[in-house]
Amino acid sequence: MFKSIRWKFITVYFLLVFIAMIIVGIFIVKAFEDQQIKQTSESMESYVEKLLEYSSVVKNEDWNIEETKKSIKDTIKKWPLPTTDRIYIINNSPTNPVIIAANPNNENIIDTSAYENKEIEPQLFLGALNEGVNKQGLSVNKDNIRVKHLAYPVTSDEMGEVKGIIYMASDLKNITDTLDESKIILAKATLLALLITVTLGFFIARSITEPINDVTVKAEKMAEGDFNQYVDVKSNDEIGQLASMFNFLTDKLNSTISEMYREKSKMETLFNYMADGLLAVNDKGNIIHANPVALNILNFTYNDIIKIKFDDIFKDIDKNITLEYLTKEDSWEGAETIHIGKSTYRAKYAPFKNNSNEIGGLIIVFQDITEQHKLENMRKEFVANVSHELKTPITTIKSYSETLLDGAIDNKGLATQFLTVVNDECDRMTRIVRDLLQLSNFDFKEMKWDKSKLSINKLIESSYMKINMAAQEKNQSINIDIKDDLPKIYGDKDALEQVMLNILSNAVKYTPDEGQINVCAETKGENILVTIEDNGIGIPKEDLNRIFERFYRVDKARSRALGGTGLGLSIAKQIVAAHGGDITIESEYNVGTKVNLILPKENN
Ligand code: ADP
Repeated sequence: MFKSIRWKFITVYFLLVFIAMIIVGIFIVKAFEDQQIKQTSESMESYVEKLLEYSSVVKNEDWNIEETKKSIKDTIKKWPLPTTDRIYIINNSPTNPVIIAANPNNENIIDTSAYENKEIEPQLFLGALNEGVNKQGLSVNKDNIRVKHLAYPVTSDEMGEVKGIIYMASDLKNITDTLDESKIILAKATLLALLITVTLGFFIARSITEPINDVTVKAEKMAEGDFNQYVDVKSNDEIGQLASMFNFLTDKLNSTISEMYREKSKMETLFNYMADGLLAVNDKGNIIHANPVALNILNFTYNDIIKIKFDDIFKDIDKNITLEYLTKEDSWEGAETIHIGKSTYRAKYAPFKNNSNEIGGLIIVFQDITEQHKLENMRKEFVANVSHELKTPITTIKSYSETLLDGAIDNKGLATQFLTVVNDECDRMTRIVRDLLQLSNFDFKEMKWDKSKLSINKLIESSYMKINMAAQEKNQSINIDIKDDLPKIYGDKDALEQVMLNILSNAVKYTPDEGQINVCAETKGENILVTIEDNGIGIPKEDLNRIFERFYRVDKARSRALGGTGLGLSIAKQIVAAHGGDITIESEYNVGTKVNLILPKENN
């Protein structure tokens, strides 16, 4: 309780007033006492002086003469004396001073030695005898009453010698009583002043401590997390300024917290919706943040991942991004290509700093580069395929032409045979280059279409005419089943015929002799569906989804032997897509293949 400012205030006020009152009281009482004693002393002196002035016997006569002694006694008896005072006329003998006269109540001590009288102080008496008036005497009698003493020497006129002493004693009881009363009044005043001081101090202290308490209570609430705390500003003094400053701090804190909250929520949204995976790990190896993409990549839930050590996950993925490795190498920034499942990621990592500006952990961003990786592989594969496809005919041409140059040219039959091979190989290269050029035109969108209204019947018919010969050679029969009222399509005749020819020629090529090929065309909603079905060698399931890739062939040797380039279906797919259609293939290995060609009907 006494630790509070309120009580400190009250105590200080109390002590200040108490000390002030005590000091003032002491001074007042002392001054009053001195003044009263001085007054008593002066009235005693004036009494003696008046006695001497009016009594010639006392003043002028010789005190040793018996008659004078008697006259003095009588004079004293008659001379009015205050009730509190006593008077003694003493002769001048320093060794044996005798009381010549005394006030009426003390007459019994007349003619006795002054030194035997308890009230007469020998020092004072002797002092007056030798040095003159002495009014310093002050004593306490047996009744505990303070007594003021005065010794007044009386000198004879002729000789100027001290003939005796007028000794007076006066009770100071009245003064003591008055002083005691004053002390009681002062004590009461002190008590009253202290009471007022404590009461006022209480209210003054409260006016100071209340706003401070208010600030303390609200600051405590803020420490507990409730930042919406304001205090009342009741004045413009230091306390008021403290309250204003507190409110200003609250505003500032609130705006800073809102700013931080906004930033945090911005960052959270950014992390949660970013396309890349993000993971933060502290220097102890605990995962402290993982966005949904990162969780998905690593196949963990958030609650699971925060329980697992970072290194335990990554040592099996790529040990080069484990904290153990990075700490050992002291290389905290870099990128690694990692493979998780069937996907490929670029993991870029960099450190973040802690409060002491040391490395506090690592942030890793996972970029999904699976597609890029696949494309890169496809590009490499494509270049390898092109080189390979061209290398074979070039090697053949080179070896045949060398043989011819070496002399085979002289043998006409052999030369014709060799030159036919060279010619075939040139045709083959021409086909490859033509197909590649066409694909390149698709890639660079430089294909020029000559679109017009087309009858699907005619398209199928003209393609059939071109392929029928090859089918007949293999004793295959081609059945065509087209609905008469098929609507027209809108497209490039040559390009679509190229598609039809490619599909039909594949059906002929990859169907053994005596095989059956059925071509149907019908309307399917807004499209025309052309199906080309054969009962040939079919395509194994695992190859089906790659069949439209460039240079992809189920059986390379067979395709090559049959004059295929492996580019036909990918070209066909691109042509059909450019017409707003699609090609799909259904096949069963060793049973047959069904190609679905979907083309949109012509509008109008
Ligand atoms: P290619 O010039 O080799 O025929 P395509 O792109 O036309 O190239 O065909 C790609 C591959 O698809 C062929 O090599 C073949 O393995 C397979 N294929 C296409 N059509 C058929 C089909 N009707 N029956 C069996 N396999 C086929």
